[in-house]
Amino acid sequence: MKKRVVPMPQTRRRVRPAPPKRERNHSLHGVRHLALDMDGTIYSGGTLFAETLPFLDLLKRLGVGHTFLTNNSSKSARDYLTRLRRLGIAAEPGQLYTSTQAMIEHLRERHPAVRRLFILGTPSMIEEMAGAGFVSTADSAGDEPEAVVVGFDTTLCYARLCRAAWWVERGKPYFATHPDRVCPTDEPTVLVDCGAICAALKEATGRWPDVVLGKPDPCMIRGILCRHNLQPHNLAMVGDRLYTDMAMARRAGAVGVLVLTGETKAQEAQRAVPPPDLVVSGLAELGKQLRNARNRDDGK
Ligand SMILES: [Mg+2]
Repeated sequence: MKKRVVPMPQTRRRVRPAPPKRERNHSLHGVRHLALDMDGTIYSGGTLFAETLPFLDLLKRLGVGHTFLTNNSSKSARDYLTRLRRLGIAAEPGQLYTSTQAMIEHLRERHPAVRRLFILGTPSMIEEMAGAGFVSTADSAGDEPEAVVVGFDTTLCYARLCRAAWWVERGKPYFATHPDRVCPTDEPTVLVDCGAICAALKEATGRWPDVVLGKPDPCMIRGILCRHNLQPHNLAMVGDRLYTDMAMARRAGAVGVLVLTGETKAQEAQRAVPPPDLVVSGLAELGKQLRNARNRDDGK
């Protein structure tokens, strides 16, 4: 049984109000790119859904682009590409968007002078940020960072948690890659995620992060729109969670497509307020609807 992820309070609220229901785009008309959630959407745990590869082939034939998207900042984009390749999906680096990449773009755009970071993250995350030109400061009061970044640190050690609290308490700009308190798992454990690490820092210092990226913040969709020069109505966010995937689509003004192959059951989808733009049983049904929409667009 997968655990439900409860988003932690967010300190940044630049939420675009949802249009009135009657004006929302309920069709796939105009969609040229899909942002694909991974767990629960293209695979479950380590098992790829049977419909995923035929669906990706169909997207290619239809000329619809796609980007795989994840909140999980414990693995680098390169790690994810390797994981996808093992599952039989040959993705290019440009087809992946993680909350670490969202953090890199956020820092570059909003804090261009910040280079030196104290990072609570895995070696993979730290390596990815170093590759983007950031300097990871040491666990030392003498190695002063310009900001603190917290990710899903599956290698968390007490001394580094204390050092992060030290800099947070001293008022350094403080950013988190995503709000998830726990990471879903089928294993007999609780995977303490970025949001819970931030909650520990909040207890110690009284501060939540200044900015929390990752779903449901629309920054990841904005990043994909920017990469591909698209308007929000050209992009459909496809995912299995109402409170992250569908909430992010709504906030970004993109089309929200809920698949019922993951966390959300059909009854919950029917009761959802506001409802997703489209609910499908899985990727096979979405493929049919995309093909129909394309045929209508072509006047066939
Ligand atoms: Mg999911």
